[in-house]
Amino acid sequence: MPWKELSDNRKFLDSETGLPAKKYGDLSVALVYPGDYSAGMSSLGFQLIYRYLNIHDNIRCERAFSNPSKGYSFESGARLSDFDVISFSLSFELQYFEIIRILESAKIPLLSKDRTGKDPLITAGGICVSMNPGPLSEIIDVFWAGDFEAGGYAMYEAILNTRGKSRKDALSSISGINGCLVPLSDPQKRCAPQAADVSLLRRSCSCFISPKAQFNMWLVEVARGCNWNCRFCLIKWLCGKSRFRLKEDIIADALEGAKKGQKVGLLGPSVLDHPDIESIMEELVSEKAVFSISSARADRLNIRTLELLVKGGIKQLTVAPETPDPEKRRRLNKNFDNAVFFENLEKCRQSGIQSVKLYFMFGLPFGDGIDFLRDFVKKAAGIVNISVGFSAFVPKPHTPFQRLGMMSRRELARTRADVLDILKKLKIKSVSFEDIRTSVIQGALSRSGREMTKFLKSGRIGVKDAEECASREYKPGETLPWNNIISPYDEKLLSEEKDKALCPG
Ligand code: SF4
Repeated sequence: MPWKELSDNRKFLDSETGLPAKKYGDLSVALVYPGDYSAGMSSLGFQLIYRYLNIHDNIRCERAFSNPSKGYSFESGARLSDFDVISFSLSFELQYFEIIRILESAKIPLLSKDRTGKDPLITAGGICVSMNPGPLSEIIDVFWAGDFEAGGYAMYEAILNTRGKSRKDALSSISGINGCLVPLSDPQKRCAPQAADVSLLRRSCSCFISPKAQFNMWLVEVARGCNWNCRFCLIKWLCGKSRFRLKEDIIADALEGAKKGQKVGLLGPSVLDHPDIESIMEELVSEKAVFSISSARADRLNIRTLELLVKGGIKQLTVAPETPDPEKRRRLNKNFDNAVFFENLEKCRQSGIQSVKLYFMFGLPFGDGIDFLRDFVKKAAGIVNISVGFSAFVPKPHTPFQRLGMMSRRELARTRADVLDILKKLKIKSVSFEDIRTSVIQGALSRSGREMTKFLKSGRIGVKDAEECASREYKPGETLPWNNIISPYDEKLLSEEKDKALCPG
């Protein structure tokens, strides 16, 4: 590794504490986060996989990031091309372009078909490829669909057991593993995302403390999946019903971090739905732990919960009304009305929450209800300090809206201008708006298949091409680019749910 990269790595390594680097193991794996160290070390999923791989007797895993030291591993500074396996841990679609840059800097052929037995095997996992591996299917050798804990070791053991075989034979035998998709060997294979019983996870928390992480917190998992039925939500429609970790395991994980002087982040799709959440928070408060939660459903807030959150050190809460129009919210199947929302905002104020971040979507298929925005935001700002965030609606695969196209850039830009005008007149200062071009590219990468290869290989996609892919509608019966992933819910149900949203009776 060049001197500059080595000294950059050293600065980061010296600042963190956590699992010591493992030196031995038959199979060497570079676990790559396609982004900066600070973002990667704020990803609980990335840290969990690192821990899981290194507790396996036969695996030695090192981390790698885009920065510092792209193309080299973080712990030993080895070239990525010298590892047996490179495993990408993916959080969102915009990271796909970074995968290409990392492979290029490691001098590894970009396409699966061009690699030989001398190259590392390239694997990828994470929610976005568990939803739709299509755009990366000519680049990645092996996808893991779903939760690692539900059989992920089988993939690495198969890789280990196929050493010495030709690359073609090795890929073909890995393709037989439940949860693995190997497009080069079996492009037609379909599999369901594997779901772990998270109540069995004794530990599911950070394994590093790093002051250079974007969120310098001790992350603790509370749940996966969700019991609510919001029609736009990938978590509900891909990951299924809520699966909760046991109260005592969550508390043990959280107190481990608190004893190390860390703020604890309780993570999950709907943390306040955990049946023992109050007693978990009571225990953390009694141990003087400082903690926060990832987000809360606005209709799940009550005075007791809010008081516990404030005692845990929370000053700001994030809630997502999604739209200011209660009728549109019902169409999304996020069923609470504005009266309940404002009552609960009042409870936030009474409990000592100092500010609330409100998240909205725009570009909904049945209009955004912007007429309601002025009164909604004005009323909210009269109760508590607010900040507002907007992101464009992407009809995600496997949800009831999967066959609809994304709104055009022009329509999104028009809504954005209207929204900003309203917020300016209301003198709301803290406003964040997702960049429309970025949203459209994200939409294209979520909703497309192999046609993305040429854009990924070239390192860019023009916004017109992205818009064409993102706004494409799929007719009933037309094969979807994400057909390799078996949806947990059948298409008839998804279609009925879409009809209820678009044509509410
Ligand atoms: S409550 Fe949140 S996580 Fe659950 S289905 Fe609705 S949007 Fe998704």
